[in-house]
Amino acid sequence: MLLSLYISRFVNISVEATETLSADKHPSIHLVIPLRQQLIKLSQPDPYNCDAIAKLKEFQNYYGVMPKPMCQKCGTNDNVIPSVRGKPSQELAMYAEEGYVKLSGCTTTHTGWCKKCEQWTG
Ligand SMILES: [Zn+2]
Repeated sequence: MLLSLYISRFVNISVEATETLSADKHPSIHLVIPLRQQLIKLSQPDPYNCDAIAKLKEFQNYYGVMPKPMCQKCGTNDNVIPSVRGKPSQELAMYAEEGYVKLSGCTTTHTGWCKKCEQWTG
């Protein structure tokens, strides 16, 4: 009956399931099974997310410790992030979206990107 409503309320899902079960009408187990499946799904770690987080840590260990080139415009490397050449993986694209690295495409040979000046460093 209110299945879509139940699904939209993840936090209250166990309460709803309990209430549905204890309703003194007809047997309502068929209403609860989808809820139970939702709960099981929610309580399991998402393997894709775990992989992605591990990848991001790997990137951080690699790109996060790279020596940063100077920006010719502002004269510091305070806002410089490494540039990454080539076609990025999905995880690397995410990492770049977060602003940790700048994707430079396949043909360029830049060393870094100044986020403040919005220009390549070399
Ligand atoms: Zn700059």
